[in-house]
Amino acid sequence: NSSLHEVDAEVAAAVDAELHRQQSTLEMIASENFAPVAAMEAQGSVLTNKYAEGYPGRRYYGGCEYVDVVEDLARDRVKALFGAEAANVQPHSGAQANAAAMFALLKPGDTIMGLDLAHGGHLTHGMKINFSGKLYNVVAYKVDDETGQVDMAEVEKLAKEHRPQMIIAGWSAYPRQLDFAAFRRVADEVGALLMVDMAHFAGLVAAGLHPSPVPHADVVTTTTHKTLGGPRGGVILSKKEYAKKINSAVFPGQQGGPLEHVIAAKAVAFKIAASDDFKERQRRTLSGARILAERLLRQDAVDAGVSVLSGGTDVHLVLVDLRNSELDGQQAEDRLHDIGITVNRNAVPNDPRPPMVTSGLRVGTPALATRGFQDEDFTEVADIIAEALLPEFDEARSKALATRVSALADKHPLYPALGK
Ligand code: PLP
Repeated sequence: NSSLHEVDAEVAAAVDAELHRQQSTLEMIASENFAPVAAMEAQGSVLTNKYAEGYPGRRYYGGCEYVDVVEDLARDRVKALFGAEAANVQPHSGAQANAAAMFALLKPGDTIMGLDLAHGGHLTHGMKINFSGKLYNVVAYKVDDETGQVDMAEVEKLAKEHRPQMIIAGWSAYPRQLDFAAFRRVADEVGALLMVDMAHFAGLVAAGLHPSPVPHADVVTTTTHKTLGGPRGGVILSKKEYAKKINSAVFPGQQGGPLEHVIAAKAVAFKIAASDDFKERQRRTLSGARILAERLLRQDAVDAGVSVLSGGTDVHLVLVDLRNSELDGQQAEDRLHDIGITVNRNAVPNDPRPPMVTSGLRVGTPALATRGFQDEDFTEVADIIAEALLPEFDEARSKALATRVSALADKHPLYPALGK
């Protein structure tokens, strides 16, 4: 019954240091967020001890009466949140959710069509050495060179040429909304299933600030830890007719015992996602990203070769294009890291620099919105980033920007109840 600090000082020290890092820096990795304390409490609970192979009411272990309550709450809440017919809340992660959905609905050797990784797609949408690239015949669609956006005429052309069994719509690094109705039409034209991976924008959908893919897609997968703001994990939503196959593909097809402590935290996150506070937070997330895109395009930054892919954003992230800048993605990420802003470098379409260097940055606003950032704070952080990307960057500027970052972090304390 001893505490973490008593049992393992080394792990405890690393956890404390990570808390301090999160509190004292500005988190702008677009796929990250801060889980509510209530969700972390559920995840750190005794539910971690329970084996519960199977599904509520049909378990292969005894003693599941309370975890059944939790899993039913999670399923009912996520179905209500997104208006879905069926839900599986057991996938351990987004990648597992995608794998299970594809195992359920495809045969090895089938053709899938997904957004190219280098154009903003995810590994599980057909990357060569991912399971999706190994098991299936992959046809990748790309963004248009001019607009930086997915061109549905091109998607249709490829679909007619290759006749995929499944079309995947969704992304990890794309600053615009996809046209799900158009994807549905193309899928119907060629007899393909439509899977939408809304991992990144699920929180925006839950808040009603982004079109929902649920009415259009056969299956919708998501993570629960990005804009949705919950614990790390995955979910599969589907039409009723696919539910049995999907459940069987998750367990026993792919996983053993579900993580009921994580499912409890998912249930908490779904409850929060239905609240007005959550909607207001997603509104600030979107507004912050728009401010970021606008202010990164200030004249001195543009003169230094800084640009924004697709010219702006209508989601929670901005893709900074450094193809015409002397600064590469790695250097830009390092500069921002040194002043206390965490982002990730990201390849841009047709990137001339190697994948470990890249010519882009992916900058997201969900975590800062959770922290309470308002428009004026996003304006300040946008100016700090723009100034960090200018050619005349030296020790003195770096120090001055770091001071401004600290002031923002102090203004919006994170997890005050957890100490410093
Ligand atoms: N799908 C998309 C679109 C993602 O962006 C990600 C993660 O970045 C995933 C799936 C995978 O999620 P996880 O890291 O939980 O496996």
